[in-house]
Amino acid sequence: MVLKVKVRLKYSHNHIVWLFKRGRGLTGLKNLGNTCYMNSIIQCLNNTAILVTYFCNGQYLEHVNRSHSTRGAIAEELAAVVRALWSGQYRFIATKDLRNEVGKHQRAFRGGEQQDSHEFLTILMDWLHLDLQFAIKPPQKNVCVQEGLPAAERAWHEYTRCKESLVLRLFYGQIRSTVRCVRCAERSATYDSFSNLSLELPAAAARCTLQDCLNLYLKDETIPGWNCPKCKEKRDAVKKLDISRLPPVLVIHFKRFYVDPKEYMSNTYRKKQTYIDFPLEELDMSQFSLHCPGNPMYNLYAVSNHYGSMEGGHYTAYCKSSVYGKWYKYDDHVVTEIPASEVKSSAASILFYTS
Ligand SMILES: [Zn+2]
Repeated sequence: MVLKVKVRLKYSHNHIVWLFKRGRGLTGLKNLGNTCYMNSIIQCLNNTAILVTYFCNGQYLEHVNRSHSTRGAIAEELAAVVRALWSGQYRFIATKDLRNEVGKHQRAFRGGEQQDSHEFLTILMDWLHLDLQFAIKPPQKNVCVQEGLPAAERAWHEYTRCKESLVLRLFYGQIRSTVRCVRCAERSATYDSFSNLSLELPAAAARCTLQDCLNLYLKDETIPGWNCPKCKEKRDAVKKLDISRLPPVLVIHFKRFYVDPKEYMSNTYRKKQTYIDFPLEELDMSQFSLHCPGNPMYNLYAVSNHYGSMEGGHYTAYCKSSVYGKWYKYDDHVVTEIPASEVKSSAASILFYTS
């Protein structure tokens, strides 16, 4: 039995039309001193149609949860930003209140130094999930611990513990990690949730494809000295990752930064300028995932780009407007239309796909 928990989310084509009438969503974000990493991520989220509708129609107000350390404030501030970006009243806005709130909970985001947009996104997702979390009624008693469910489903319900949020529903998937003893073939599987997949790039390649990176991420890895529960000895084992749950919005990060082995003492970060080819339409994830719920075909709608080095870099976002069907470049306070042919570049750092 596959457990299906229905979360009623009030979004429809009418809401998209309503947004179109009210505003444009083509509003820039002022740079408050090295805040382009934050601006880039906000614009990617601001082009996630269901999330925009959820914030703009006020439904999020029913879910604001004050029982965690951020007390609902991060979600409230992000909602205020999204509503302003879609109000059609401004060419660009400043996000001081959101930045102050974020800085209260994570020191690194308080100062005027450049930060990593991937780190910001990952933390922001966790905060938003907690800030917008609500309890769901399981369809029958004790379903959260029901033994009949497949292991991946059971692990998912143990993880969510009957707490839902739109952010969890949209962005979170699940990875199964299997370790197999080379000698006796004993297996052990664990499950982890993710809000984005963070992929290594093939070593020393000037060009590669997203599929190459996914294959590298999911390929067998030999681990020595695994405590095999059957052999009761340390054995060589093979570890394999599989995607056991695909989210409706799949976020993929490329690990371009690495510590140069020759300069590891000084902790100097280098950046791989690899050109990664990725599909704008019809990314087929079925070959990269176990048979799991959800549609395996994805289309790209946003990219967070990084230019330059880690210390002295700049971030922009390329986003496809769900209203106009065209691509736009969001470079802090400046928003310009770009041809789809410009979306793929060696600056691509985080990809946002929707099924
Ligand atoms: Zn063994």
